[in-house]
Parts: sequence; C-alpha cells; structure tokens
Amino acid sequence: MLNSLRSIVQEVNAARDLPTALDIIVARVKLSMITEVCSVYLRDGDNGYVLMSTDGLNPDAVGVVKLSPEQGLVGRVVVREEPINLEYAPAHPRYQYFPETGEERYNAFLGVPIIHHRQVLGVLVVQQTERRRFDESEEAFLVTLSAQLAGVIAHAEANGTLAAFGQQAAEAKFVGVPGASGVAIGEAVVIAPASDLRAVLYKPCSDIDVEIEFLQRCLAAVREDIKQVGKKLKTRLNREEQALFDAYLAMLDDASLGGEVTERIKQGTCAAYAWAEVILEHERNFSSMDDAYLRERAADVRDLGQRVLAYLQEEVQSCRVYPEKSILVGEELTASILGEVPKSKLVGIVSVKGSGNSHVAILARAMDIPTVMGAVDLPYTRIDQRQLIVDGYQGSVFSDPSEALCEHYSAIIVEEQALVRGLEALKDLPCETLDHHRVPLWVNTGLMADVVRSLERGAEGVGLYRTEVPFLLRDRFPGEEEQRIIYREQLEAFAPEPVTMRTLDIGGDKSLPYFPIEEDNPFLGWRGIRVTLDHPEIFLVQVRAMIKASEGLDNLRIMLPMVTNIPELEAAQVLIYRAYNELLEEGHKITLPPIGVMIEVPAAVYQARELAARADFLSVGSNDLTQYLLAVDRNNARVADLYHALHPAVLRALQQIVSDGHSQGVTVSICGELAGDPGAAILLMAMGFDVLSMNASNLPRVKSVIRGITLQQADELLSEVMLLPDAHEINVCVERALKEAGITRLLRPSISN
Ligand code: PEP
Ligand code: MG
Repeated sequence: MLNSLRSIVQEVNAARDLPTALDIIVARVKLSMITEVCSVYLRDGDNGYVLMSTDGLNPDAVGVVKLSPEQGLVGRVVVREEPINLEYAPAHPRYQYFPETGEERYNAFLGVPIIHHRQVLGVLVVQQTERRRFDESEEAFLVTLSAQLAGVIAHAEANGTLAAFGQQAAEAKFVGVPGASGVAIGEAVVIAPASDLRAVLYKPCSDIDVEIEFLQRCLAAVREDIKQVGKKLKTRLNREEQALFDAYLAMLDDASLGGEVTERIKQGTCAAYAWAEVILEHERNFSSMDDAYLRERAADVRDLGQRVLAYLQEEVQSCRVYPEKSILVGEELTASILGEVPKSKLVGIVSVKGSGNSHVAILARAMDIPTVMGAVDLPYTRIDQRQLIVDGYQGSVFSDPSEALCEHYSAIIVEEQALVRGLEALKDLPCETLDHHRVPLWVNTGLMADVVRSLERGAEGVGLYRTEVPFLLRDRFPGEEEQRIIYREQLEAFAPEPVTMRTLDIGGDKSLPYFPIEEDNPFLGWRGIRVTLDHPEIFLVQVRAMIKASEGLDNLRIMLPMVTNIPELEAAQVLIYRAYNELLEEGHKITLPPIGVMIEVPAAVYQARELAARADFLSVGSNDLTQYLLAVDRNNARVADLYHALHPAVLRALQQIVSDGHSQGVTVSICGELAGDPGAAILLMAMGFDVLSMNASNLPRVKSVIRGITLQQADELLSEVMLLPDAHEINVCVERALKEAGITRLLRPSISN
C-alpha cells in the first residue's frame, strides 16, 4: 500500500495539469483498490461540487454532474467532513441517483473528503457492484491519499487550471510574504527570460579567434547595459546597493565566467553553447547549496546568463512599453531588473520566489515600492497585462480584482496619499495624545535611502538600525574603517537625536554570502548574539567602528539581538567596555554609549527584570517574539494565518516586559512591525512603552491616531482587550474603538479585508 501511495503521489505531482492529474488519480486508485469505479468531485464556485474525472462511470457525465452539499452521498461527505463507507448505498436516506452517470448498478460506496487548510476541496469516491463494506485498510489508504493530494489539487486550482473547464476566470488571491509595505493597483508586467539557456543548440566553432572576439563584443554590450541600469538607479541607491552592479560586472571578467567560456571556445564549442553550459553549471552549484542566501545567488547567475545569451543569439531585445502603473512580476526578480522600469511607472513588485530577505526586497523597501515575495502559487506566466493588486502589508496578490476590491484598495491608497500629504502639517508637531501624553516615534532603518524618508516624516530618533543590511550587500565582512563611515552617516543624519545600532544579527533567515550558516533549524540555532559572541573578532571590530563613528556626536545606543540569558549580556558588555577603553587609550574623545537588550525570545520575557537591572534599556523585537511565543515561523506562508502579533499571549508578554523594565528604572521601547500598526500602537502606548519605533512609511499614520485619542481612552481599550480570549476578537475590538473615537480612516491598512 505504501508503495502504491508513493507512486500515485509522485505521478500526480509530475502531471502537467489538473485534468491529467485527476485522470491519473482515478485510474491508479481504481487499480490499487481493485474497485469498479473511482471518481473525483471538486468544488466549483461557492457551493457546488462537480464530477471532474471518473474511471468507471459514464465519461460524458464529467463536467455535467453537479451537486450541492445538500445533495446525495457526496454532499454528505462534504458536510460531515469525514469518510462515508456503505455496504449498500441505495438504502441510505441521502442516496441520490444521477442518471447521467450510470451508477445505478453500484452498491458499495466509500467517499472521503479532500481537505486543504480546513476547506473541503472535493470528494474522492470508490464504488463497487458487490455489496460489501470497504475494510479499514482500504478506508485508511483513501484517506491518506486524499490528504496528500489536497495540496497538489489546491496548487493546481490556484493556477487556474479549473478555468480550462470553461469556467470564468475571476478574482483570485495568492498568498506570499510581505516584501515592502504599501498597496498598489496596476498592470502586471511579467519579466520572462529573453532567451532560454536550456535550449541553446550545439554548434562547432570554425574560427576560434572570431568566436572569442564575438563573445567579447557581446560581453561588452552587456557590461554597457548593466552600467546604464546602475546609472539610472544611482540617485536612489547608496554605495552598498551600487556594489551589486559591480559584482555583476566582475562576473563577466576573464578571471570569472568570461574566462571559463573562452576556454571552452578554444576547445571548439561555439560561444552561445559554451556560455549556456558554463552558466547552467554555476546555477546548478548555487541552487544545490543549503544556505538560502547563496541559493538566491543562482538567480543572479541565471539573470546574467540570459542577458549575454540574448546578445550571443543576436536577438533584438524588444523595447517594452511600460504602463503608467506597472507591477513588475517575475519568477525570481533580481536587483538589476528593478532599474529597467522607469521609477515613475513602477508601483509594485511581485516575486514568485524569494523571501523578505532577498536583495530585491531590500531594494524595494529602500525605494518604498509595495512588494510581495514568495507568491509561489501565482501563475505568473499567464498574468501579463492583467490587473493586479499588491498588498505589501499582508503579503498577498489579487489578480483580476473585482470592482469592490479595487475600491477597497483604492481607498487605502488615497488614505495613504492623504496621510503622506498630511505629514507636512504633522511633521513638526509632537506625537502626543489629546490629553498631552507624549510618545516619541522613532524609525527602523537599514539603507541610506531610509534616512531621507525618515527625516522627511519627522522621526525623532532611530530605534533600530539593522547593521546586517550593509553586511548583506557586500562580498566580505566590511573592515573597521568601512563600517565607521557607514555608521557615521547614520549618526550624523539624525544627530542630536539618538540612533540605536543593533549589533550584527545574522543567522535564521539572514545569512551572509561569505559566511554561510548551514543548519536544520536555523531559527533555533546560531543566531544574533550567539554568532557574534562566538566571534569576538567580528563583534569587536563592529563595536569599535560604532563607537568611533559616534565621536563628537554622542548619540549612539548599542543594542544586542536574540539575548536569551544573563551571561550573554554580560559577555557582550565586557567586549563593549574593552573596545571603549581601547579607543580611549588611542586618544578618541568618546562617551560610553547606552547598551540595551532586545527582548525577542520567551526566555528574555521571563528574565526582563534581571536583564533590565544590568542594561541601560530594553527594546522588544515583536517580530521574533511573536514567532517564538506562538511557534509560528515568520517567513512561512503556510502558517501565516497563525502569526498574530495581537495574540493575547503576546500582549501579556509585552505588558510584563514594560512593567519589569520600568521596575528597574530603564526605558522600554518596541521596534518590531507591531509598533507601526496604528491600532496596536494605541495599546502599546497604554501599556507604557516609552518609544515606538517603526518603518518610516507607517510613522504618519501612527502619529495621527495617537493625536486623535486620549490616554484615558487608550487605557480603557487596553483593559477591555486584555480580557479577550483571541486575536480576532482583539482586532475587532480595537477597530471598533477607533471607529468610536472617530478615526476610522486610520485603521490598520487592508487588514479588515
Ligand atoms: C524583531 O524581531 O522584531 C526585530 C525588530 O528584528 P528583526 O525583524 O530584524 O528580526
Ligand atoms: Mg528580531
């Protein structure tokens, strides 16, 4: 049975489309279970189920027989969400006979539901003339198979294969992960490779010198293209981001790919074939690496390979006309593609692969373009020029959206634009409640581009500077002086306001190309402070660079990520004091910066008091804290529904952190995404957080909400919320309270959808 199961699932997985997959299922199940009939019914629209494939019933009934959950035994399986196993089906009160199928002669019936994410997608049925009850092992076989097939069917359904059965293509939602916040409505511009590296024909090379010259000409043309793209982006990117383009250029050199291809040409292979061979080898090598960051580099190699191949094949690249509101879509978008769309026309980005950690997402955030990553079910090859909505807050994409949905999202866009405009009035006003309770709003930064936006939006400090971002954009650890220059830019831009620099937070989903970390369970592994304490040489260089950079400005705060125990804090403090004393001895006029601890794991919540007693401030990383408290991977779209930062357990933890921190006389801030959610910000203020630090784009909205409410109202809301049993009720309660306070237009964007 196990072998049959495996081979059926493998065959179904390899099927080219849904109808083929279903035909395989019915034929193979019928054979394995030695029955006379196997059929599959799938959900069609809201409430009906259609016979989609059968081996045994009249094939003409496929696509014709349709029933509601109230009809027949199939409907009964749908409603009960469990198998129905009958020796003599016609005797069952729910038995309904569909003459088109010719099923009257079958007596035994076993139907099992196909359930995916709690939804009944369909029913798998076997039937037989002989009156007999299917035995326990047969029932278990069908249940196991149906559970395994549910995901495959759901994926095929999402890909719109059902439309092939003549149904109308309608609004569809595809789930990914947030790449950059914001909402966009526009037309899909799908970036498909100009040439296919796997389809290059082999040709022998007759004149080696001419062929090498031809290769060099093509490489020069691509170099020129890349430089042009780099130039177009120059004003929007800083040095680190520009370095990506330099890396591309270096790959074309004789010392790299160019040289390898030349060698093959010398052995008699034509340039195009040699090029494709070399690229595919490198791509395969990168793709097989365990490290997520390095695997993503395979996309860069492929992108470069396709560009050169286009020239080698003497293809004329068509000049694409970009619609006014272009949403760039691709299987694996790369940094260089972004530069090709005029900035004024690029409103959104969707990448089928990748995560919030991909270079594309990092650049999109710097450029403030709503982005969704990892939309794995999006049938990207079929949506060119179709209308899309990109919801970069929730990480979802809608194709062919209904008018109502467009209106909903248009309202959010208008609201956002109004808020940004309103900022001109709000920018210099304090963030305080109607009854004059002051809450400083700080920003989270990583790229230089964030700094400008933050200052424009009236940030009062930096609550989290993610130092790993400049590290991610390089091909080696930056040296002390390089780091000092980068940090100085941040500190100077905000001086005299404080800038909280987090020490290198790698591991988990963030790994450096030049320092790969391979682990089975990276989020519970070598992350954050654990890595840097194991490498004091890296930690000391970074801390020295930070302290040196603060000379004469004195607005630096140092923050430690992923601390889970007191010895980690103490060890880090010893290293920081050592760096500080060394710098004093070297003659620098510096002050010792405050040293804070991020509270982002449950252990730190329960030791917040002890940590606070030894640190200068606490800052909650609610992104990680939520993932660790709820045991929900923050990057996994499959469990995204369970990731609730307003879960009662998270709220209780937050309240406890604030009171434990304050009991030791230290300030407590929060720098996870939660602080940028207007409704949540009210609760956080009521809990007593001293600072809320967020993405610059969310700052105006949070300020408006806080300025529209009294602290007393916020306190009452918090008391009410803390009695509620689940995140959904809490969301509803917060939204209602905001409505009652007359600030409905500032609700959390798109969350109510
Ligand atoms: C957090 O975990 O909330 C946080 C701010 O850090 P990061 O998102 O960079 O892990
Ligand atoms: Mg974190």
